[in-house]
Amino acid sequence: MQTIDDFSTFTLPAPDLDALRREYADLNVALDGASTSRARLAVIARWDEIRRRFDSWEQLTMVRFEQDTANPAHKRARDLRNELAPKLTALDVEIKRKLLAAPDRPALERKLGRQAFALWAADVAAFEPAIQADLTREAALANEYTELVASAKLEFDSKTVNLAGIQPYTESPDRDVRYRAQQTRWSFFSQNRVQLDRIFDDLVKLRHGMARKLGLPSFVPLGYQRMHRVDYDASDVERFRAEVVREVVPLAQAIMAARAKALGLEKLMFWDEPVTNRSGNVLPRGDRAWIVASARAAFAAMNGTLGDFFKMLVDRGLLDLENRPGKAGGGFCTSFPTHGVPFIFANFNGTAHDVEVLIHEMGHAFQNWSSRRAKLLDYLWPTSESAEIDSMGMEFLSHPQLERFFDGDAARFRLEHIADQIERLPYMVAVDHFQHLVYATPDASPAQRNDMWRTLEARYMPWRDYGDLEYPAQGGRWQAQLHIYQIPFYYIDYALAACCALQFWARSQDDYAGALADYVRLCARGGEAPFQELVRSANLKSPFAPGVLSDVTRRARVAIGV
Ligand code: ZN
Repeated sequence: MQTIDDFSTFTLPAPDLDALRREYADLNVALDGASTSRARLAVIARWDEIRRRFDSWEQLTMVRFEQDTANPAHKRARDLRNELAPKLTALDVEIKRKLLAAPDRPALERKLGRQAFALWAADVAAFEPAIQADLTREAALANEYTELVASAKLEFDSKTVNLAGIQPYTESPDRDVRYRAQQTRWSFFSQNRVQLDRIFDDLVKLRHGMARKLGLPSFVPLGYQRMHRVDYDASDVERFRAEVVREVVPLAQAIMAARAKALGLEKLMFWDEPVTNRSGNVLPRGDRAWIVASARAAFAAMNGTLGDFFKMLVDRGLLDLENRPGKAGGGFCTSFPTHGVPFIFANFNGTAHDVEVLIHEMGHAFQNWSSRRAKLLDYLWPTSESAEIDSMGMEFLSHPQLERFFDGDAARFRLEHIADQIERLPYMVAVDHFQHLVYATPDASPAQRNDMWRTLEARYMPWRDYGDLEYPAQGGRWQAQLHIYQIPFYYIDYALAACCALQFWARSQDDYAGALADYVRLCARGGEAPFQELVRSANLKSPFAPGVLSDVTRRARVAIGV
């Protein structure tokens, strides 16, 4: 393995916009004057180097800010990043447009792969200078949602907690506690109803307006372009949702019925859904340092390269897992292309989620590391539905190692993990379906949108009963899903990836070594191909192929025993 400095020593100079503009002007001149493929490829290599530099600075800036959100210098750097990013998009789109129109495009595609051109075509179609101000306004509205939701100060059992802090109470084995936790949670949404409706209404109209300026009939195709969906369309997704209704909803319903039985309940209510066992949820057997040490042993046992890679992350300080004041919430994996390494960010809270998030993000990190020598920045990560196969696939392939974390509860954890994946699929496709309806009818009122959501809940989650929780009962549940506000049409990705990751699980039951070898190869391909091609190359079936969901659910049903 190459030697890599410790993360604490990483520094990258803040970009200077004028200098960047000069560099792009030079690139444009060179590209306009290039008369051979060789000359064009040389310009592309220079451009890629600039993009890697900017991307690394952007990611480092965001990580440093999220690690310490109160630090004024980090905040200033974050603001600069937010100001520069759309300007860089405009500069990149100009280059991409020229490359798409290059007279020797087939030769360039042979050298660089066709996927980059497909991604660039989507970027070009999704941007015109005429919408630049709208994009800034969209980011501000999305930010308004983040800040509103982050501002929640909920009083619960004489403690003040935020929305993430109420989460563990909603999973309490004590039914009264979890019911009151949901009441508290939804009272926040109820108090902010007007603002939440207004932000979303503004976003929908703004997004529809952008689509119209780009010559599109609605935001739906623009949303697909933004998500880089280059090898499937809304009709494929529609068929997939219908398959979920047919194949997955009955199994999810059976899982919920089994949960009610395990909890000794006549009727499973909304606040009971996250609880699987009267004795409480499975817990890891040690603290953060112990989990990291166990993970090191687990990854090494799975595969030598994986073990060495995880050790490198630990030794170089490329993991920040501790929850501390001033640190942003959530978990993610990013990377610094100039340094060729990924970084894992999480907030451990002492639950099984710590193990899950570490393994999940490790899947992303391993993929990024495996494809770090890709020809283009565009290939360092796959599109999001493919990226989530790498992370969710890692979750399933680590199943044989779970005794290291959960001891005698590992078997229970494995079955609950499979059941959870199945049971979440209907919600995932409901979120997707909802967004299609919302953007097809941009003039709908907030009340009409809630009605749409309620109709979808009845179709996809027929077991759901909110009882006297008024806000979600009236159709407001979707407002807690940040993707709907911030990253439109990002959510079906989890369902498509789960359908593939569950195939890795099923295959690993018959041929673990073969499934792992395919997984490692898939990670090494990074984002060099579109979703369905990556899936096929890993010996998995596309979720859009008929019968795939039915195979997966049949296998899961047997394992879970419902
Ligand atoms: Zn992920």
